Amino acid sequence: MCTTYLCAVLMDELTGYGRVSIPRLVRLNPCIPYKTRGNGAVAFEIQLHTASYAEKVKELIKARVGELAEIHAEETNPGVVFIREESALRMPYEHLRSLQRFYELAVKDVVAIEHAFALLNELQIEYYGLKQKRGVIGALAAAAFFMLQQRYPTQYDLTYELIAYRKRERWGTPRVIDAASVWKADAATYPLTWDTVDYANKNLVLAPHSPCPVLFGVRGDRIDAIVRAYELITAEPVEREALFITNQGTDSHLILAEEMQGSLSDYHSYCLEGTVMSEPRPFEGGHVVFQLAIARSREERIDCIAYEPTKQFREIIRSLRVGDEITAYGSFKTRTLNLEKIAVRAMNLKAMRNPRCERCGKRMKSAGQAQGYRCKRCGTYRSSQELETVKRGLDEGLYEVPPVARRHIAKPLIRLRNGCSQKIHPSR
Ligand SMILES: [Zn+2]
Repeated sequence: MCTTYLCAVLMDELTGYGRVSIPRLVRLNPCIPYKTRGNGAVAFEIQLHTASYAEKVKELIKARVGELAEIHAEETNPGVVFIREESALRMPYEHLRSLQRFYELAVKDVVAIEHAFALLNELQIEYYGLKQKRGVIGALAAAAFFMLQQRYPTQYDLTYELIAYRKRERWGTPRVIDAASVWKADAATYPLTWDTVDYANKNLVLAPHSPCPVLFGVRGDRIDAIVRAYELITAEPVEREALFITNQGTDSHLILAEEMQGSLSDYHSYCLEGTVMSEPRPFEGGHVVFQLAIARSREERIDCIAYEPTKQFREIIRSLRVGDEITAYGSFKTRTLNLEKIAVRAMNLKAMRNPRCERCGKRMKSAGQAQGYRCKRCGTYRSSQELETVKRGLDEGLYEVPPVARRHIAKPLIRLRNGCSQKIHPSR
């Protein structure tokens, strides 16, 4: 069903057995074809009041997973892992390194279920799963994120999300949220909170559209700002709330140029420097496409597409020109990059234009194919076009899709407002 809801329910139920930490919500590779929506997984730590509760707690967790999982849904393959604190604390460095690699793989790459089982066995980690148990991949990745973050707090970028859950009798009914209060909450706390609303598209983005138990979530960089925004929002009564530490809004899914090995492969997200090789062209459905030559391997060319749901971002893409040097960010599939962001690094300001008549100041007209150019008024003749410097309606720097089209894991540009060498154009 909704992994975060299951987590929130468990945390409340488990308070009788021990002290429960702030849970982690990790978003895994967003292009995995057999993912559940959002491809999220959760982890938390519980310090048991007495060691004898361990088995009881595990049984309770297994029971809830069994109850709350939408087991009939084909893509639902729940999985849980349990790591004891002693083994977590005493974990040898190589094991920690293996977990680190596993987390990176789960976020950026495609993990085979056999790989997860092999690592679970090697590290002697207890697990539980239903059906194909594919969920153990996410569970192990979330647990790894938790442990790594505790061990190396500065190495992992993180953000927060406070999620409010609906009362059970309201599930599947239209959500009651006072829009005006949400706009007010955003105005009072942005940019410490973000992706609550979409100004350009006049849309609330904090609430999902699915029949899931989530009423809405407030995302941001600081807990105090998130709580302030939450308190300003007027909505239907909630069943419970939960605050998560997350890898949302961090771009953890992107494979950078220096991390790339071999050629581009499907279901991965990249950050690619290159040169625009074709004029951007619209195609059916409101999408825009252009060809990019990748700087790293000059002969490699791919199509970059800004799809219709990316709205005004397509205008930026349409204003690119052949010869522009850019960095394209997005997920790759069948020789196509689905754009999430671009950095305009150097614009091509040169263009071949029909010559201007020195006498009249008018632009000359073509005198026919390969016939040169002639002034309509005085008949002055030139054999070829001229190279001119053109004005561009585009500014250098980073551009992104609007909040309505943003993936959970994609970093909103506003988070780069302090300490980014490039100019940022946040979409709000
Ligand atoms: Zn003339």
